[in-house]
Amino acid sequence: MKIPFLDLISEYKNIKTEIDNAIHKVLDSGHYILGPDVKALEEEIAAYTEVKYAIGVASGTDALQLSLMALDLPKDAEIIVPSFTFIATVEVIILLGFKPVFVDVIEKTGNLNPALIEAAINEKTKAIIPVHLYGQCADMDKIKEIAKHYKLAIIEDSAQALGSRYKERSSCSSGDLACLSFYPTKNLGAFGEAGMILTNNEELAKKLYIIRAHGSAKKYQHTIIGVNSRLDTIQAAILRVKLKYLEEWNTLRREKAEVYNQLFKKAKTPVHLPYIAEGNEHIFHQYTLRVDKRDELQSYLQENSIPTGVHYPLPLHLQPVFENLGYHIGDFPISETLSNEVISLPMYPKIPLEHQKIIVNTINEFYKK
Ligand SMILES: *Cc1c(COP(=O)(O)O)cnc(C)c1O
Repeated sequence: MKIPFLDLISEYKNIKTEIDNAIHKVLDSGHYILGPDVKALEEEIAAYTEVKYAIGVASGTDALQLSLMALDLPKDAEIIVPSFTFIATVEVIILLGFKPVFVDVIEKTGNLNPALIEAAINEKTKAIIPVHLYGQCADMDKIKEIAKHYKLAIIEDSAQALGSRYKERSSCSSGDLACLSFYPTKNLGAFGEAGMILTNNEELAKKLYIIRAHGSAKKYQHTIIGVNSRLDTIQAAILRVKLKYLEEWNTLRREKAEVYNQLFKKAKTPVHLPYIAEGNEHIFHQYTLRVDKRDELQSYLQENSIPTGVHYPLPLHLQPVFENLGYHIGDFPISETLSNEVISLPMYPKIPLEHQKIIVNTINEFYKK
């Protein structure tokens, strides 16, 4: 039996008529960049996340880059980021000439550890980018308190967390700006690249609409340096169809995560199950365990045709590309431990129970050997 890590084709086929109609409507309209569908998607996502303004952009990475551009930070600004995340979060900081300052994460969740932030702050620190890893929010109450005290901007990297909630707030509503990715494998995925920025700040929103279109609000009148990061109309039309199903899909993911949990508990499998921090509603973008002998387990599962993922196998402070930042092994011990222990199992809204049972049984076999 073939067990997929996720099943984008079936997800499409289940809503094929609606998606195809939406795409053809765009093709017939002759409007292929921005346009009414992008505006409608922006309004719908803003309403869904309880945020005032949404700015559709070309990717989640661009959402992060444009957010930093909109803040107009001084050239020598330092930005605090977790050492355990996807590279995009940090790449954009370097591209814009700022300095990333890594802070370690919490072992149970993999999210930024607020207790370690203050030690990383100095007079150059201007912003914090917490990442809501795997689909649950970082400890935003504590992070906000620190940001307020030191007058730092917060950009939430919500790329993995659209639809998750933190203490009754949406995952995108706790900071000054929040960034979404609609990469095809995200919980709300386009059929190509797409992203969005959310903010309650009118001034930032106005600036972002301009930045994404070559720094011009009026054709051929350029007031600031911008980029080309406009959202495709076709992607927006697809996302509008899928957004209607997102709550249902996220609920199914939560249910499937609970199925895994129960199967592992029943079998007393020696693994750490995903931990849900207080006040969080996790949307299980990834179902990620912490385990002993991770690499051996992953090979064993591979031999048994079970695909898995490792998010992420090398913490950012140890990436060759960041060598010149001067970090060393041992600087962020929790990130280093997690990078050796985490393993993500197949997870999508309609993963069959039969697959989950085979996966859990195969993991049990491995630990009994
Ligand atoms: C996916 C992702 C991004 C980047 O989004 P793209 O749309 O692929 O550019 C950024 N941060 C995190 C945490 C992500 O998971």
